[in-house]
Amino acid sequence: MKIIITIILYSLTVVKKFFSALHTHAESVFLALPNDSPVILCIKAAEYWLIGRVTLVNKLNGPKEIALTFDDGPDQLWTPRVLDIFAHYQVKATFFCVGQMVKYNPTILERIVKEGHIVGNHSWDHPDFTKIPLLAVHEQVERTSDQIEKVVGVRPRMVRPPYGAVNEEVIQLLVASDYEMILWDIDSWDWKGLTGPQVARNILGHVTPGAVVLQHSAGGTKDTLKGSMDALPYIIEVLSEQKYTFSTVSAMFQLAAYRERTCPVEKRRRGR
Ligand SMILES: [Zn+2]
Repeated sequence: MKIIITIILYSLTVVKKFFSALHTHAESVFLALPNDSPVILCIKAAEYWLIGRVTLVNKLNGPKEIALTFDDGPDQLWTPRVLDIFAHYQVKATFFCVGQMVKYNPTILERIVKEGHIVGNHSWDHPDFTKIPLLAVHEQVERTSDQIEKVVGVRPRMVRPPYGAVNEEVIQLLVASDYEMILWDIDSWDWKGLTGPQVARNILGHVTPGAVVLQHSAGGTKDTLKGSMDALPYIIEVLSEQKYTFSTVSAMFQLAAYRERTCPVEKRRRGR
């Protein structure tokens, strides 16, 4: 009996804290709830919240804005197409870049930044952070930030762990290193080689104010992301008609996208 009461009390605490968390503003980590497994994610998120590492963000009652995000680039094939579409519609988005891709395609990264989009960190070569040593996670993130900074002179503060895979240790590491962890609400499943209408349906069927949408701007075989590209203008037009505006993740959540740079003079002074 005592055990049952304890379990009930514990569950109530979890539920209560979970719902109050929905109204709390974030300090360091954002965990958006994907639409495919709400229950599991909610419980997982509540656990993270209980250990003080995650703040859930609920912008359902906020303005009609959403953030389009594109992972795994920059590449030479799909990323320029995404950029062309955004340039045509004058939409700004967030690109979570893979360090290795930045190394091979620096001019595409330059174009992303030049055209007013925001760059985030998506690891060096896309491992599952829960399956490699913590030191390797640190290296994956910092090496990517170094590479991005080398090319465009800004050092990202937003990290999207590959596959959205994290555990307590990974979250602690990211928080300790002053990174914001950004997941997503709406998965387009575009990497599966879906058609344009299928990708559009996956996104438009789940849009709510404040949603973060996941698409890809690189990867797969030659035609894998064609559906995603076909869907993008349609998604932008339909949502614009519904009076949605498009924001970057950092603007929508009022986060600093990049680290403040210390000027060389300051560095020298500090070194003395
Ligand atoms: Zn990815």
